[in-house]
Amino acid sequence: MDRILISGVAGFLGYHLARLFLQENYQVIGVDNYLTGSRKNVTDLEVHENFSFLYHDVTKQLYLEEKIDGILHLACPASPVDYLKYPLETLRVCSVGTQNMLEIARTKSCRFILASTSEVYGDPKVNPQSEDYWGNVNPIGPRSVYDEGKRYAEALTMAYYRNQAVEIKIARIFNTYGPRMRIEDGRVVSNFIVQALREEPLTVYGDGAQTRSFCYVTDEIKGIYKLFQSQFTGPVNIGNAEETSVTTLAKLIIKLTNSKSDLYFTELPQDDPQIRQPDISLAQNLLGWNPETSLEKGLLETIEYFKGVTSLS
Ligand code: NAD
Ligand code: UDP
Repeated sequence: MDRILISGVAGFLGYHLARLFLQENYQVIGVDNYLTGSRKNVTDLEVHENFSFLYHDVTKQLYLEEKIDGILHLACPASPVDYLKYPLETLRVCSVGTQNMLEIARTKSCRFILASTSEVYGDPKVNPQSEDYWGNVNPIGPRSVYDEGKRYAEALTMAYYRNQAVEIKIARIFNTYGPRMRIEDGRVVSNFIVQALREEPLTVYGDGAQTRSFCYVTDEIKGIYKLFQSQFTGPVNIGNAEETSVTTLAKLIIKLTNSKSDLYFTELPQDDPQIRQPDISLAQNLLGWNPETSLEKGLLETIEYFKGVTSLS
């Protein structure tokens, strides 16, 4: 049985990926320091006999006796609210944390996949964004701790491939949503659903004309899983190409929740990207992967999840 290590396992995507790998008969070692993760995700995974957990900050070195066949490095605050609250932790986990994980991959001679992001494209000047676009990033703006952190993490990952012969893959993840996002996560889908269910105004930043392309979590993790299995080296966009404005998203969530909430327009955060849509032709051709869940269906599943979260009322 192959054994993989997932850093950031207590987080939203880490939890779902661990479940998928367990279903596919892997042994999973999950690592997390709970900076933005949830203990419940870990306790729910711990019922599985092939899962084990290490409470550990990946910016500190980690020595493992056992054979490791692959590393999925997800540890990093991902919501703008979180990385703006933890700027130094974010830079450190992208740099030192990524290097520590790559060192394990080097010493164990195992494959490594970096959870990167559409934020490496910054506020893009081309739409949709394909992997060969170099991006438009403000290197000193507040978001740079994340954007430049992930760009550094990508550079480091490529250097370990070129110079240390580590087998690497880079998943450029586009806005993913679904069950197990935290109520206080701060990203737009969870904010809007929680606000709509509480009949509170939906906080639209700026004029709401900015766009994102939202991918349902089960589609996203299948794409990451397929990339992990592939022989490909380098970055691959994994996301849903259906582009939606923030206002359209807000109105759809109000409709799907049957809510009486209104829209409340407030200040746009600095450097908030105006457009974002993945070109997923590489993932389609390389992995035979396609997102299958429509925005409406994914939102309905996510709304059902948040209705069941007892602390919501
Ligand atoms: P999340 O905040 O829910 O999970 C991140 C996890 O990493 C948390 O459990 C946190 O405690 C852990 N962590 C942070 N610093 C750590 C450290 N030093 N040591 C150990 N654990 C640490 O975020 P997510 O949405 O699950 O994102 C996971 C990864 O995917 C991140 O690397 C993120 O950049 C990337 N990503 C996610 C999205 C998305 O839409 N969800 C989009 C682009 C990229
Ligand atoms: N956003 C919003 N209201 C919120 C949270 C976010 O209008 O309560 C906007 C935000 O300004 C951005 C988009 O929604 O334009 C997506 O934001 P999110 O934080 O989910 O992800 P990211 O900015 O990293 O793509």
